[in-house]
Amino acid sequence: MRYLSTRGPAAVQSLSGPTFSEILLAGLAPDGGLYLPENYPRIGMDELDAWRPLSYAELAFQVLCRFIDDIPADDLAELLTRTYTAEVYCNGRDPARAAEITPLHWLERPDATRGEGGLAILELSNGPTLAFKDMAMQLLGQLFEYTLAKRGENLNILGATSGDTGSSAEYAMRGRAGLRVFMLSPHQRMSAFQRAQMYSLPDNNIHNIAVRGMFDDAQDIVKAVSNDHAFKARYRIGAVNSINWARVAAQVVYYFKGYLAATGGVNGHSDRPVAFAVPSGNFGNICAGHIARMMGLPIGRLVLATNENDVLDEFFRTGVYRPRAAAETFATSSPSMDISKASNFERFVFDLVGRNPDVVRELWARIDAGGAFDLSGTPYLARLPAFGFASGASSHADRLATIRKTYDQYGLIVDTHTADALKVATELRSVDMPMVVLETALPVKFEETIIEALGRRPERPLALQGIEDLPQRVEVMDVDVAAVKRYIERHAG
Ligand SMILES: *Cc1c(COP(=O)(O)O)cnc(C)c1O
Repeated sequence: MRYLSTRGPAAVQSLSGPTFSEILLAGLAPDGGLYLPENYPRIGMDELDAWRPLSYAELAFQVLCRFIDDIPADDLAELLTRTYTAEVYCNGRDPARAAEITPLHWLERPDATRGEGGLAILELSNGPTLAFKDMAMQLLGQLFEYTLAKRGENLNILGATSGDTGSSAEYAMRGRAGLRVFMLSPHQRMSAFQRAQMYSLPDNNIHNIAVRGMFDDAQDIVKAVSNDHAFKARYRIGAVNSINWARVAAQVVYYFKGYLAATGGVNGHSDRPVAFAVPSGNFGNICAGHIARMMGLPIGRLVLATNENDVLDEFFRTGVYRPRAAAETFATSSPSMDISKASNFERFVFDLVGRNPDVVRELWARIDAGGAFDLSGTPYLARLPAFGFASGASSHADRLATIRKTYDQYGLIVDTHTADALKVATELRSVDMPMVVLETALPVKFEETIIEALGRRPERPLALQGIEDLPQRVEVMDVDVAAVKRYIERHAG
């Protein structure tokens, strides 16, 4: 399998595009585009049914070996077996089901006689940091370590986080040979729980840097360091941000897993469509759903849910993609979806415009200049229905109401992001197919809003009780690029 860039010249690409391992450590393509496979491997329904008895790791192998053909099959299978274990994904509410990695939890079972399609939650947050980002990041850690060892190289990962991504990356990379993590976070602006999750890691390949500023200041430092090409090459600086192709690929797997569980599990049949509802920010999670659908998985509807930052909902309703300015980006109670532009969206638009890189380049010239584009009235928008998307937005009041209703009706506490998707899913459900809502975090990560909604604290998994009391390691610095560089020079591997 070769990869191409959403902005690359089409003619050159298919002849000599890079392989999976070649783009694993890369971020953007050199032309500024995002990498995608040159085609989407198709999965037949018989094949899909044959996958029903497989474990999560075995299913991941079946899906991912189609995208990764430059790692020997035995090695890939071994990496996946080591990644998706019940020990790593043991934070579920039902420890007996931990081996399923992503258990499906029915809120309402499908009932054909009553014309009810069913409503379920796919648990994606049972990993070490209690958010779905672990699903891909844990694999990325294994893939990085494997690839670096083969090449005899090492890598210094530099990132900025406002919470979820940083802890997920640190838990995935901790203790790994050849890897060091330098994670910038805004000083005193994360919750006590988030700070404890990151700063209490004792591993000496993990470096936390708290900058006296906002998340955007931290992000700007990362950009400045990465734009110093000599420094970047000398200290082998890499990234793990959400445009990384391997992260998207790893996420494709749980759509297959969720589909098989929602259509009868081991004894079921792949003869009916399933809808998925996805709380969305950077469009990484739902992009994986789009790819699963392009591979032939019978996804009847991909329901995209945003919070008050509704740039993506606006596109799917109107055809206008209009990234917001920082001042127009709201801080909400589902903070991991507080984005002004959706970094993975370009991947979907590439497919929407018939994989024509010239069109993508033209559209993103406008976006990169701070503008917008409008596909209404173009032939591209006429094709949009064929991709199965529907969308909606949710507000703080919706979130509180959904958390309350879900607790009252089903006895389940959902986190604020999952609540956004559940709200939109409830509006867009239809009787002819099950609706599977992707759970992207556990409620304990967003305690404050849960207390506001329910007047009680969500339960915390045993392993994370009292982590606020553990000793913490963090280097506090001013917003100063030179100081961060000096720190990296002293501690790089
Ligand atoms: C990252 C994140 C999201 C958004 O996912 P995207 O892939 O950026 O669309 C939603 N919920 C939670 C809890 C997250 O951490």
